[in-house]
Amino acid sequence: MTDLQRVTVLAGGVGGARFTRGLLAHLKDAHPDGTGGSRVSVTVVVNTGDDMTLDGLRVCPDLDTVMYTLGGGVSEEQGWGRADETRRVSSEIAAYGRGWDWFTLGDLDLGTHIVRTELLREGATLSEATEYLCRRWRPGARLLPMSDRPVETHVRLGEAADEHPAGSLIHFEEWWVRYRAGVVATEFVQVGLESAEPAPGVLEAIRDADVVMVPPSNPVVSVGTVLNLPGVREAVRHTSARVVGVSPIIGGAAVRGMADACLAVIGVETSAQAVGLHYGARANGGLIDGWLLDEADAEAVPALVDAGLAARAVPLWMRDVPTTARMASEALDLASRA
Ligand code: GDP
Ligand code: CA
Repeated sequence: MTDLQRVTVLAGGVGGARFTRGLLAHLKDAHPDGTGGSRVSVTVVVNTGDDMTLDGLRVCPDLDTVMYTLGGGVSEEQGWGRADETRRVSSEIAAYGRGWDWFTLGDLDLGTHIVRTELLREGATLSEATEYLCRRWRPGARLLPMSDRPVETHVRLGEAADEHPAGSLIHFEEWWVRYRAGVVATEFVQVGLESAEPAPGVLEAIRDADVVMVPPSNPVVSVGTVLNLPGVREAVRHTSARVVGVSPIIGGAAVRGMADACLAVIGVETSAQAVGLHYGARANGGLIDGWLLDEADAEAVPALVDAGLAARAVPLWMRDVPTTARMASEALDLASRA
């Protein structure tokens, strides 16, 4: 695509961040602007359904993962949080018998949460606070929270766990981090969703893009949450952009993490084909035009094509930035042919 100008990515945390880092690396090479950057502007609409208030601070796990990854401050081993992190403050909080022992905030990371919380208390919107934080990190893309209103994903438990009776709702991060998605869940509830609206610029970024990308993020609690915001699904369905997705499932398994547990809750099989069909072809009322799968899943290509999608199998392990840049290049190429 030689006239490519605007790309919009609908991202969660680690999968969305790593993919976008590869995309930016590819665009710098393929569409240079002569000053070390790219002519193509990239907007990342980030899931805020995992956000929570912890130790009095507003924590936005996916926004921070994207910001640290693109800004060069992420812990590569973890995929989230800061490199060279320490835990002195949280051990002090624990000594007072407060905080959640299953969710520790690192000292460097706490700096971000303190600044964000202060900006919000001064009256800034989350979009404004994010823009402020990005002045330091210079992520090379415009980061937009999906909404300025709090929308929190909660999980309805199908069985009792510790102090939580069966049937109660707990925050997604508690289910994910404390219980490692191992307690039976019956549904995800996005608290605050109906009254939330997309943040300024979100619908425009989808409408005005040349290509909208669904990165290999969790299809249920990352991309699904963004899509469930009022107006977003319709914007994706009706944009003149090509919409392409990259499978977060390789060979029937979530590559990192426990996305299979989330797919099970909504009754979607953990396979690249099932997730592609779950998004569905826009030609048939769905959300995407093209679906990139790993080579291990190549046999699913004909079924996806039958369902109205452009589909191609290429290596989808995000091993390092150059490999991920090639993935992004394949996704853009698929978009230009979809
Ligand atoms: P989270 O918010 O940090 O959980 O991150 P995301 O929702 O953005 O992405 C998580 C998903 O990324 C995981 O469930 C995996 O399915 C997917 N993922 C992680 N690493 C890779 C990879 O190297 N290749 C592919 N194709 N998917 C990956
Ligand atoms: Ca997340």
